[in-house]
Amino acid sequence: MSKTTDQKRASSKVDQVLAEQRAYIARREKGYREQALKLYPWICGRCSREFGHANVRELTVHHVDHNHDNNPVDGSNWELLCIYCHDEEHSKYVNFVQYGNSPGSAVEPATHNPFADLKEKMKAQEK
Ligand SMILES: [Zn+2]
Ligand SMILES: [Zn+2]
Repeated sequence: MSKTTDQKRASSKVDQVLAEQRAYIARREKGYREQALKLYPWICGRCSREFGHANVRELTVHHVDHNHDNNPVDGSNWELLCIYCHDEEHSKYVNFVQYGNSPGSAVEPATHNPFADLKEKMKAQEK
């Protein structure tokens, strides 16, 4: 009986770690995203779809070597990809990057923290 509880606790711990990691990646991404959008034309590197201010949120920064810590200022490790092509690119690299689960999640204003109430939710789940 207690085994089930332990498993539940372990998996919510994993969820928490993943959530923190995602929040960290999201914060870091804001920095290099702005730089990349200044450096490169707003065009998807795969499907050549063009972007403007209205839909630039759907244009994401891909790391050519898949290392998000590798952010040279000349932009040589960045590639702008639309969310669909980016998804495709990462399907080869399972779980490497989480830039959002849906097109909608990228539309949130910069101040919004999707994980702010996570701990509350977890507390509620434990009951
Ligand atoms: Zn594309
Ligand atoms: Zn990527």
